[in-house]
Amino acid sequence: MGMFNVIKVKVDCPKCGGKIDEWQTKNLVIDDIYPVDNVLEHYDLNKGMDAEIHSYCDNCNKELSLIIKKGKICKE
Ligand SMILES: [Zn+2]
Repeated sequence: MGMFNVIKVKVDCPKCGGKIDEWQTKNLVIDDIYPVDNVLEHYDLNKGMDAEIHSYCDNCNKELSLIIKKGKICKE
């Protein structure tokens, strides 16, 4: 299994509305400066972040992915 970082941000599952508050990312960039090493670090969402994030809804068994642009959640 590859390494990744964890982004802590609450998002409702688009399918069932279940709460998901932990996401994985392998391409986190902060403040346009550098890609962050994937070392299982936990981050709160902040407005300098760009990343593609992935999680899994236990409620409806669906894999989810979202894009973060400048700290805002965008659709896949
Ligand atoms: Zn769900």
